[in-house]
Amino acid sequence: MTRSKRTDMVHGGTRRSQYGEVSEALFLTQGFVYDSAEAAAARFVEAGEDEYIYARYGNPTVRMFEERMALCEGAEDAFATASGMAAVSGALLSLLRAGDHVVSARALFGSCLYVLEEILTRYGVEVTFVDGTDLSQWEKAIRPDTKAVFFESLANPTLDVVDIAGVARLARAQGATVIVDNVFSTPVYSRAIEQGADIVVYSTTKHVDGQGRMLGGVILGRRDHVRKVVEPYMKHTGGAMSPFTAWVMLKGLETLDLRVRAQTATATHLAEALAGHSRLDRMIYPGHPSHPQHALVERQMGAGGTVLALDIAGGQEAAFRFLNALEIVLISNNLGDAKSIATHPTTTTHQRLTEDQRAALGITPGLVRLSVGIEDPADLAGDILQALDRI
Ligand SMILES: *Cc1c(COP(=O)(O)O)cnc(C)c1O
Repeated sequence: MTRSKRTDMVHGGTRRSQYGEVSEALFLTQGFVYDSAEAAAARFVEAGEDEYIYARYGNPTVRMFEERMALCEGAEDAFATASGMAAVSGALLSLLRAGDHVVSARALFGSCLYVLEEILTRYGVEVTFVDGTDLSQWEKAIRPDTKAVFFESLANPTLDVVDIAGVARLARAQGATVIVDNVFSTPVYSRAIEQGADIVVYSTTKHVDGQGRMLGGVILGRRDHVRKVVEPYMKHTGGAMSPFTAWVMLKGLETLDLRVRAQTATATHLAEALAGHSRLDRMIYPGHPSHPQHALVERQMGAGGTVLALDIAGGQEAAFRFLNALEIVLISNNLGDAKSIATHPTTTTHQRLTEDQRAALGITPGLVRLSVGIEDPADLAGDILQALDRI
């Protein structure tokens, strides 16, 4: 019987011990005991399904999480990582070697940009950056020797949308692997594999945990790629997810669909309440008709997601007054959390960039990123409107 993603998020990948526990068991063990010396030797030659060696390679609780994520994403397999950045760097470094060429969108999470700009190039990988929203730039930059393309499908913090199917078509024509960082789309709205992605990565720190507790990440893709390319790199370099983290993430997945849909409904409500507000130069929400790529978002995700960006009129000073006047929404830099969070990218997540780089990405001094939580929508609207009034 085929099951929907929503059911897989609750049941997918579950293994039960002899006790028949309802909640997934937490196998808080680094190692495993073998019945005999011969059994140990055989497992080191080839570990079978559900045969484990060492937690850096795999663990039953981590395996439950990997299988559940793979089912939700429509991927053949997954490798869970210690953080979102372990997933991004692992997906890239396991695949690339000196002399390879990569094309990447320019609008990226700060640490992703660092990996592409500073680390890959240090090891002899050539990286070309493009405006991810412009398919003609991808077409020009992707060459016969391009090994991979990389982008965030919804870019942080300006919420520009990259056309997964469009970029994948161009990349595949040249034999390049398509790697998508899909955090802002969330596993709930993602159909990235069917839209042409070869590899999807998530920071599960964000919506999957969704309660601000743990760092985590995951790399998803075809089984031969995950097991033969990603796994050897990850297991020998040490970026594996801990069993305790995997257990927390499994619990997060059980409520992910409910949380993300509620957060998205509230974000939609806030976008309507804030569009055209006199204290805003711009209200950016991919699910609102005013977003320049609204039609693409509808096609690609079917919803606008859980994050808005507000360009406060009056620049940084006004943005700070707005942030300091918020009473429910927290000033922090996580996103996808149950608690609503406001971030000022210019002075925090994107402060490493030069003013010119920020301007080119549309990160203005007045820009505030608003990650919408699961609080009462009317309370949130009231808080934001009173804070705008107090600027
Ligand atoms: C947060 C984030 C990451 C990094 O994840 P960590 O879990 O913090 O390491 C990577 N990409 C995007 C788009 C993110 O939002």
